[in-house]
Amino acid sequence: MKTIPYGRQHIAKSDIEKVVKVLGSDWITQGHKVSEFENALAKYCGCKYAVAVSSGTAALHLACLAANMKKGDEVVTTPISFLASANSILYTNAKPVFADIDYETINIDPVEINRKINKKTKAILPVHFAGLPCKMNDIKEIAKTYNLLIIEDACHALGAEYKYNGKWIKVGSCKHSDMTVFSFHPVKHITTGEGGAITTNNKMFYERLKVLRNHGIYKDKKTNRKGYWNYEMRDLGFNYRITDFQCALGLSQLERLNDFLVKRHNIAKVYIDNLLEIEDIEVQKTNNSLKHSYHLFVIKLNVKRAGRARRKLYEQLHRLGIRVQVHYIPIHLQPYYRKSFGFKAGDSPVAEDYYKRCISLPLYPELKKKEINFVIDSIKSIII
Ligand SMILES: *Cc1c(COP(=O)(O)O)cnc(C)c1O
Repeated sequence: MKTIPYGRQHIAKSDIEKVVKVLGSDWITQGHKVSEFENALAKYCGCKYAVAVSSGTAALHLACLAANMKKGDEVVTTPISFLASANSILYTNAKPVFADIDYETINIDPVEINRKINKKTKAILPVHFAGLPCKMNDIKEIAKTYNLLIIEDACHALGAEYKYNGKWIKVGSCKHSDMTVFSFHPVKHITTGEGGAITTNNKMFYERLKVLRNHGIYKDKKTNRKGYWNYEMRDLGFNYRITDFQCALGLSQLERLNDFLVKRHNIAKVYIDNLLEIEDIEVQKTNNSLKHSYHLFVIKLNVKRAGRARRKLYEQLHRLGIRVQVHYIPIHLQPYYRKSFGFKAGDSPVAEDYYKRCISLPLYPELKKKEINFVIDSIKSIII
């Protein structure tokens, strides 16, 4: 039996041809495809700059470094995300502080952010969970009040939009943040194999990100005076470069993004139309000033003893070859976080309650009508 994953890439013949062309050229890394991809991404998001790197995690790490996070700083983020969101804060020796989520949207709750702010707070790192934009107006207000930076983790949210002053703007435009981070892992909206990017409107952050991506090496007018071979390392950076053939894939995928988004929307609509008639199932609450980009389609089991019900649904769907997933185990409950910071059960009650009830259904552009119906019928037969 063919199994159905929760997410997967779609690679077209045209994608492959573009990658092959770059593989046969002089520059397979550090050539022009990287900046071409960056320019296309910045244009798509409606921001000034983009920096492409080797993964979403690398992008988060560099954004945190560019924001000058360091030991003694605190950064407010959500417990319901992939580990990388909070780990990137740890890489800089700053401390992640978890603000609870809003049960309806599954996104970080601005009221809870407010509660977690103190003198040490340096930044807010919201995550647009599953592709639903966070309340960026509210988060920006908080950041303004306390003079904090905002780094958006938009690894789920390429193509998501929200209304601001009567106009639709894209996540990644950085209208309400300092930097926004994307991932191009194969389960995400577009892929480069592994890959990620940071968008920003701030020239200083942009320059710093480019240098940190390449060992902290500066090569400019000042270094040139000593001879054109000269270069200076003024910061401790990394090799977080992405290759040109990956960026060729990224460019090709970006051209197909709108088609991917339409397909994801249509699948989500079929799920909503068929599953909401079941009393025990809830979905993420959105509204007409948000455009969800549906990286994930999450259902919440609104039943007593949800932990048991979720386990049964997970195991029986897997037995049928439907590889549903759980997004996510609350980060503060991971052994490393408990051990390092003393986080414990009860710290984020809404997130912990959500975690017991959630399950992510298969969602990717090439999911077939027959497969979607099989998923829906299987859920109904298990739950009802
Ligand atoms: C995928 C993901 C990341 C990390 O991206 P990689 O490219 O896998 O390093 C970070 N945050 C969130 C929310 C993600 O979903």
